[in-house]
Amino acid sequence: MFAEQAGIDLTYERIEAQADGFADCVHHLRARGFRGVNVTLPFKEDALRVASNATPRALRAGAANTLTIDGQRIEADNTDGAGLLRDLAENLGKTIAGCHILLLGAGGAARGVLQPLLDANPAGVVIANRTQERAMALAALGDARVHAMPIGQAGERAFDLIINATSASLQGSALPVPAACFHGKSLAYDMMYGAQPTGFMRQAAARGVRVADGLGMLVEQAAEAFFGWHGVRPATAPVILALRRALTA
Ligand code: NAP
Repeated sequence: MFAEQAGIDLTYERIEAQADGFADCVHHLRARGFRGVNVTLPFKEDALRVASNATPRALRAGAANTLTIDGQRIEADNTDGAGLLRDLAENLGKTIAGCHILLLGAGGAARGVLQPLLDANPAGVVIANRTQERAMALAALGDARVHAMPIGQAGERAFDLIINATSASLQGSALPVPAACFHGKSLAYDMMYGAQPTGFMRQAAARGVRVADGLGMLVEQAAEAFFGWHGVRPATAPVILALRRALTA
């Protein structure tokens, strides 16, 4: 849809790599003349490893969702953080500056969005993860605004923005987010998306909180990758709308 908007003639294919064959898959694509790859779970760490160089944001995230192939050179990038920030700011009208943020999860997605969130000047970010050590490791990156705490203790304060960057929704598991984490003007954002609201979104909506899923982030991270490849920033709103209609049809 982005290419159609820009009048660019390209081939875009959905490819499933073998669990232990990601590098082979990318080399095969290069041999076929492909110039870029959007990468999703569970290959984002492999994508960083297969690259000959990486952008600072991919290195910081320890994971890549975008590859650019130029002859023998493969560059890894991570556009998830930029995608989330753009979805929050442009599509949802959420200002991050001054916000108290609760970030649930400490996997690749959480790592990818932490620095872009900090760059937008929040008042603070609390990271809560099922495995507390991973949250602590992520919080130990040296920014005084970031703290890790067990999810059960996060309810000592209410947050303006609660981001679910865990894959709990993917497994249909509930997250034990204390009710006190939400206030009337909070936004509860689940990076997951689907035909139905996730358990986390239902949990937040039941407390009267505004909710959003990650469909906008999906489209915005793809738009950021497209911009990197083609130098054209696509209009995302019609694409989000079309995908939403297709999901709920
Ligand atoms: P990941 O690296 O595998 O990390 C998974 C995270 O979820 C870890 O923090 C893990 O905790 C936690 N977790 C898994 N199952 C859980 C459960 N049952 N209860 C509580 N926590 C659980 O995955 P990721 O790459 O960070 O992706 C996370 C989610 O973000 C996925 O659902 C993915 O689809 C979504 N995502 C969406 C977009 C988008 O464009 N919308 C982009 C990127 C990611 P432990 O550390 O304790 O294992």
